[in-house]
Amino acid sequence: MDDQTRRPLKARTWACQALGAGDPSTHALVPPIHMSATYLRDADNGYSGGYVYGRADNATVQQAEALLAALEGADEAMTFCSGMAAATTLFLALDRPTHIVASEIMYWGFRAWLREINRYGHSVTFVDTSDLQAVTRAIRPGETGLFFIETPSNPLWTVTDIAALSEIAHSAGALLCVDSTVSTPVFTQPIALGADIVVHSATKYLNGHSDIVAGALAAAGPSSLWTNIQRLRTQLGNTLGPFEAWLLMRGIRTLDLRVREQAKTAAMLARCIDSHPALSSVLYPGLKSHPGHEVALRQMNGGFGGMLSIRMKGGSGAAVRVAAGVKVWKRATSLGGVESLIEHRASIEGPGTPCPGDLLRLSAGLEDPDDLLFDLIRALEAAC
Ligand SMILES: *Cc1c(COP(=O)(O)O)cnc(C)c1O
Repeated sequence: MDDQTRRPLKARTWACQALGAGDPSTHALVPPIHMSATYLRDADNGYSGGYVYGRADNATVQQAEALLAALEGADEAMTFCSGMAAATTLFLALDRPTHIVASEIMYWGFRAWLREINRYGHSVTFVDTSDLQAVTRAIRPGETGLFFIETPSNPLWTVTDIAALSEIAHSAGALLCVDSTVSTPVFTQPIALGADIVVHSATKYLNGHSDIVAGALAAAGPSSLWTNIQRLRTQLGNTLGPFEAWLLMRGIRTLDLRVREQAKTAAMLARCIDSHPALSSVLYPGLKSHPGHEVALRQMNGGFGGMLSIRMKGGSGAAVRVAAGVKVWKRATSLGGVESLIEHRASIEGPGTPCPGDLLRLSAGLEDPDDLLFDLIRALEAAC
């Protein structure tokens, strides 16, 4: 072996080349999409092609999964028809009543589902997972089986120390599950920091073009939970379709470039508007003023992500006016796509949300950074 073959390739290379997926029969550089729902049985009643039925397995989906596993440094990855399908299937696959410790601040849709987890026989304690003492206090010895964190988490970008949480979880005999949607494998690899399972809404940065809904789980190694999840996914049929899997692989080819650029733009925006008189605060883990900055420096490698939030001195009314006033930014929910999005989170989360009414969530896209900055500043001035 020469040096070139011994030196491991970087994730950006695998992603760019879709892990070498192509078509051996035609030598096509780009892999085909396997749309077949079913497969031919051999005369001897076997399935020598290795595939039986679309709900259980699909070659295109498996290519996307192999790529995701490689990016996360995982043993295996599974895709789902949404991020919510991925996360909820994980909890539905728990095979005994489990106490769960979860981040208090997280993606609201999943938090709402977790709040009702007792209907499945489980219980949950929400804590500020950036406070390690609070996390330790929440443990119920013998009952706590799973820690679920999101970092940085929606919409305050609260940072949780994955390595510290993994120590706490493992010494309690529990698993650590990390929603790494916002950080992406480009900046953080939770498994290398001790996480057992990583969750992604692949709708967001992984696909990156706001044109599919998809989810993924990646596992550090085999476990009975992982086997249960695999079986349950085949039973529920909440798999990712082959066309979506193909689009996801295509999106991932540019993941590295996209998220680094988006993080650069988000950091520039955060810096430039940090002392704007219309704002009471700018929330971005890359700012020294952010409570999670120190931990983010340690566990986010190369950037602090493309998400930031701003809080208006003028309250909820001013926030809604800013969202109404922008022209380049698009008013829509979701995040991580090439188009920059602005959103008044309290409006979509509804009554009872812990999200402050004066908050706007910004997802930096790939437009010219100055166009984004000037558009935002103009809307801020107009709304004051
Ligand atoms: C969007 C999102 C989800 C849910 O994913 P869907 O693909 O919309 O089902 C989960 N976690 C985070 C952090 C998200 O941003």
